Amino acid sequence: MKTDRRTALKLGSAAAATLATGKAKAQANPDVIVIGAGLSGLYSALLLAEAGATVQVIEGRDRVGGRLFSARNVEGNPEWGGDSILGGYGRMQDVSANVGIELVDHQSRRDLSPEAHKDPTNTELALQGKLIPKGDWPTHPLNKMPDGAKNRFPGRGFFQAVIGENNPLESFEDWLDADSAQFDRSIYEVFKEIGWSDEAIALNYNTNVQYGTSAHDISSLMWFFTQAWFKLQGELDRVAFKAPGGNQSIPEAMAASLPGEVHLGKEVIGIRSEPGQAEVHCADGSVYQAKRVICSMPIPTMRWLKFDPLLPALKAQAIATVPVQKITKIILVPKKPFWEDDGYSPAMWTDTDCGEVRALREGEDANRITCLMAWGRGYLADKLDSYSDEEAMAQVIADYERIRPAAKGQLEAAGIKSWQSDPFAAGDWAVWSPGTVTTMVKALIDPADRIHFCGEHTATSNRGMEGAMESGERAAFEVLDLI
Ligand SMILES: Cc1cc2nc3c(=O)[nH]c(=O)nc-3n(C[C@H](O)[C@H](O)[C@H](O)COP(=O)(O)OP(=O)(O)OC[C@H]3O[C@@H](n4cnc5c(N)ncnc54)[C@H](O)[C@@H]3O)c2cc1C
Repeated sequence: MKTDRRTALKLGSAAAATLATGKAKAQANPDVIVIGAGLSGLYSALLLAEAGATVQVIEGRDRVGGRLFSARNVEGNPEWGGDSILGGYGRMQDVSANVGIELVDHQSRRDLSPEAHKDPTNTELALQGKLIPKGDWPTHPLNKMPDGAKNRFPGRGFFQAVIGENNPLESFEDWLDADSAQFDRSIYEVFKEIGWSDEAIALNYNTNVQYGTSAHDISSLMWFFTQAWFKLQGELDRVAFKAPGGNQSIPEAMAASLPGEVHLGKEVIGIRSEPGQAEVHCADGSVYQAKRVICSMPIPTMRWLKFDPLLPALKAQAIATVPVQKITKIILVPKKPFWEDDGYSPAMWTDTDCGEVRALREGEDANRITCLMAWGRGYLADKLDSYSDEEAMAQVIADYERIRPAAKGQLEAAGIKSWQSDPFAAGDWAVWSPGTVTTMVKALIDPADRIHFCGEHTATSNRGMEGAMESGERAAFEVLDLI
């Protein structure tokens, strides 16, 4: 499975033609229609094609890749979506190699300086609009860290380690076992049981929230699974691979390796299962028919689909109610290294509209900071989305400059991406609220009539990109058994 530039270009021009006429000529009844040309859909299609099945991938956007989307207008192609390919991502690493992509390890660039892994507090802390020098933090009035941890930096690194110390799962894959149902309660309850104050939970979990909107609406079972899974990734191999040209190059090369073209601009609006076949209806009036359908659409986008017959009750309920993380990202390009003027790191963890600002080094020179990426999550993402794009970018720069006067006039906004405002994503990764792991995960996976489901939200042993690949593999094998 090798791809080349000519094949990729051919894909692009065929897609343009498809969009121009508005009606793609569907392959005469393939065995399988795959909806969605993100990682999970493309991987299922590649596996099906390799096994000899005929398959047609259709995609609503005018590009492939889904939540792999590289900011190609910015030096080094920073990622709007999936970023790091970790040590245990066997499928991602294999497929990349098979489609001719040589991944590059960016682990050393993920920290602020080559020495940063020795100093996890390299990111600056700014609360209530003021930078708090590290030496002041242990005795600072805003320090609400739990007893015994006053010198620790708040946030994910800290609370994930605490979750690790209190993780009752023997293996992360046990999270869906019946015995684990007792842990399907809020992570807030777990923090309280180990003696954290509400202020400590608010500071560590609810600020720049990773999953959910607060500790109340996330299942501790999701965290026990996720924490142990992340830990394993680092233990297997401490790498953070990225594709040259941006990670979007991987699904582009996967699409180019398929025997047929991906049909772009095909927004699916309904799926019908009949006794001998399934039908997929698109907004442009085209209809595709096949023996089976694999649907890789993200959860909230399935809420807009008409299923005929209706989905089983629990599956419909899962699609209607399982939340997805909200994330809005803004890329800021520095005109000069202003941080050399004030002596602090440009990366900051704040409780302002900047959210969490990461300093990225994506260019040829692995030591040079090429851009800053501001992450607004949860309610902050909602707030940023309530502004126009220009206002949101100006607001983030203004907050950053308030904390860091040395940055005044030195930051240029290069773009903004709200995943929840994107009609083909309508959010980011699936998150599991208390009580839903035990009921909803399986319901999302189960096929319904002739429709099979994949996508990161249906992964059970991995998360992120590797989760998407795992789910595509599972769906492909499910279908191969039936056609
Ligand atoms: C900000 C961010 C950071 C991330 N960081 C990481 C990371 O560092 N490491 C990691 O492993 N993962 C990360 N991820 C997650 C990873 O990118 C995703 O898990 C993965 O790409 C999801 O793939 P998928 O195939 O499940 O879904 P998608 O990529 O969303 O594919 C679904 C496809 O369906 C299409 N579609 C939707 N609706 C329709 C419709 N009506 N008709 C036709 N087509 C439709 C979409 O356009 C899309 O192409 C991150 C994601 C984001 C957004």
